[in-house]
Amino acid sequence: MKAYADVIVPVPLPRTFTYAIPKDVGLSAGFRVLVPLGRRKIYTGVVVRVHNEAPDRYSAKEVIEVLDSVPLIGEHQLSFWAWMAEYYACSLGEVMTAALPAGLKLESQTRVKWIAEGAIDADQLTDDQFLVAQALEQQDELSLGEISDVIGKVTVHPLIKSMIDLGVIEVVERVEVKFKSKKEILWRLAFLPENDDLLEQAFQSVAQGPKQRTALFQMLDDARALHPGRTAAEWQKLHGVSRAVLTVLRDKGIAESYEHELSRLSFSSEGKEEAKPPNQDQERVLDDLRKGMQERRVQLLHGVTGSGKTEIYIHLIEEALERGEQALYLLPEIALTTQIIQRLKKYFGDRIGVFHSHYSQNERAEVWQAVARFPEENSYDIVLGARSAVFLPFKKLGLVIIDEEHESSFKQFDPAPRYHGRDAAIYLAKLNGARCLLGSATPSLESYHNARMGKYDYVSLLKRFGDIQLPEIHFIDLGREKRTPGQPVILSDVLKKKIENTLSENGQVILFQNRRGFAPIVECQRCGWVPQCRNCDVSLTYHKQIHTLKCHYCGFSQQFPQKCGACGHTDLRTKSFGTERIEEELRLRYPSARIGRMDWDTTRRKYAYQDIIDRFARQEIDILVGTQMLTKGLDFDHVKLVGVLAADPMMQYPDFRAFERAFQLMVQVAGRAGRKGERGHVYIQSYKPEHPLLLDVQRSDYEHRAKLELDKRKHFHYPPFYRLIRLNVRHRDLDRVNRASEALARPLRKRFPKEVLGPEFPAIARVRNLYHKNIMLKLAMGESLHMVKELVTQLIEQLKDHNDFKGVRVVVDVDPQ
Ligand code: ADP
Ligand code: ZN
Ligand code: ZN
Repeated sequence: MKAYADVIVPVPLPRTFTYAIPKDVGLSAGFRVLVPLGRRKIYTGVVVRVHNEAPDRYSAKEVIEVLDSVPLIGEHQLSFWAWMAEYYACSLGEVMTAALPAGLKLESQTRVKWIAEGAIDADQLTDDQFLVAQALEQQDELSLGEISDVIGKVTVHPLIKSMIDLGVIEVVERVEVKFKSKKEILWRLAFLPENDDLLEQAFQSVAQGPKQRTALFQMLDDARALHPGRTAAEWQKLHGVSRAVLTVLRDKGIAESYEHELSRLSFSSEGKEEAKPPNQDQERVLDDLRKGMQERRVQLLHGVTGSGKTEIYIHLIEEALERGEQALYLLPEIALTTQIIQRLKKYFGDRIGVFHSHYSQNERAEVWQAVARFPEENSYDIVLGARSAVFLPFKKLGLVIIDEEHESSFKQFDPAPRYHGRDAAIYLAKLNGARCLLGSATPSLESYHNARMGKYDYVSLLKRFGDIQLPEIHFIDLGREKRTPGQPVILSDVLKKKIENTLSENGQVILFQNRRGFAPIVECQRCGWVPQCRNCDVSLTYHKQIHTLKCHYCGFSQQFPQKCGACGHTDLRTKSFGTERIEEELRLRYPSARIGRMDWDTTRRKYAYQDIIDRFARQEIDILVGTQMLTKGLDFDHVKLVGVLAADPMMQYPDFRAFERAFQLMVQVAGRAGRKGERGHVYIQSYKPEHPLLLDVQRSDYEHRAKLELDKRKHFHYPPFYRLIRLNVRHRDLDRVNRASEALARPLRKRFPKEVLGPEFPAIARVRNLYHKNIMLKLAMGESLHMVKELVTQLIEQLKDHNDFKGVRVVVDVDPQ
């Protein structure tokens, strides 16, 4: 009987596709295969099911090639993918695209280049290979699609694979079909250091060459320390030993060079430190957590900033390793700094793999492989990662920790799957029968509610480690400050004084303002004209250093205008202030202080963010100004003062989560103060210093605030009592967006009379020349999500087929943040 495979193909089509399995080919779920799709596209797909039923609506094409000898994707992973596609209303293909590192995929868009040296030897190549070789002489790189044109055949993958195996071409960006390790040339001593005769001779022969002698001493040390040797570049850097010197040493029989296989991952070092013994409070927390975990209940750890949550995680990870299990430690992308990585490496050495989006595709493929190898040698039993680490091929996942679980950046915004890293990780844990712990100093209302309803266990640790008090919080009434008319108050008199005092005591200061740039608004003093982005409905932010107006949504920029775009008046002034302006103010006011700024503009370079954090930790920066990037779990010892320069905009943000977020941000940023030694101080500037939200921040009264917010949510039908599904309708043409969104909303309203909000424009109705309109569905928690998503998917399909709505895109976001 003929066998067929249902294959996930990385395209946003809702179904899997059925392919015929060639005779004599063994396949089962989890194998990667190359399959044709459409007229000339070829993709790497993943088999989900093997069966004997021929598809009845099309005749099945054949699988071109099988890429694995054992399944790459495990059963749990496939179930996880299926859950994600179902819950977040997207296709399995989209989930697969997100899940597999590019290094494990090969697509028509994949590009290859020639790497063999010297002239092409036509005799060694087949006709097709030769054609490709010739084409690559003309052009540096070719996509697989172009190669298919060159040879006039649809199927190019076996050909490409054969050429890769020959070592004549390579996939660009080192995306390889098979995992290849990296090699380097190392220089080392050519003989055993115990051989006294040779050593004696060697020393005599380098007597006249000081560089040679230096190198010999080092090589001897290296050899005795079992050091594998050093690259020429390292020799140059370490002792100024040039390649010429090395060559001379080789000619004298003293040194040798060899090819050293190098894994980009290293597995050599074990952790050097024992976990810190828990204090009494931590011990109690650990006991509680262990008990609930035994029953596989999800645990919520509410521990104030600096209470020692990280140390608690370390103990739990140790216990998981002792049980022979793997552990996943999830953090928001931006909180994955060397600070936390180093801290964990101290305990776990190289058993811990790090996985986040700054890694190259190749590095990610290597981490993937190392997780999959468990429990063999050279594998990872711990992964510290951002949300996409939930897709790694864990073999025996026993513990999942989601730190800073309240962070909205756990949610994938674009593209699909628009999943929440926390919620996906909770499901992943359940699927694997793993223990699961959420941690935060300011839990999300969703998790807190789940805890209150008994769905999760709730364990709290409400004092800091070492009995250090939480920082003292003070308010400054901006309305009472003297001010220059037309100018915002950046630093109040009190705060200036406090900064001076702190600097004079060699303490460090953090100043928080959630706007970047110099000034978010520029305004004509005569007619009130404000320069707007040409692609988006937003005002342009002034960036003074580059004397440019920039759009923070699409990147559009223009020179600062000489005069008003409406009336021609030349008096244009900035309103409000961002981090760049604060930095300037600080430089003028405290000329001897060292000032750092941490925001999107200063951290775009790859290691810039890290660099600022390290410099601040080493006390090479006295005052650090920044946006919310500052609030992400950083642990500095000498911060005595924190200033929140403008509390009001956070509280006025038009979103039902505004108060929750404002509370979290302020408590978290305040939590950077006074973590060691003396109690820290926080000054919050506001026009409404009596605002009840601020009072809760001051008392650090999470519970009070959470209860108030939950009551409001319940009353107004918002999460966590209701589930939201947002349909975002987009098109260049405003009218088409209006009509399409109405056409979508009408049948939904009919079906759910009370639960449809909109269509309405979001706060920014046009971004990158696309108009946006949102329809929000609110579903009571009991309502069948599945049915609703079916209906929505169906309506969107109908809309797409409709001539009036050509080109309209609808993005479905389940649990939007
Ligand atoms: P959190 O993650 O809750 O903000 P941390 O785990 O970073 O707290 O702990 C705050 C500080 O207290 C850290 O510098 C940490 O090293 C220290 N600390 C926490 N627990 C212990 C312990 N049991 N023994 C020694 N130091 C500890
Ligand atoms: Zn004007
Ligand atoms: Zn714009």
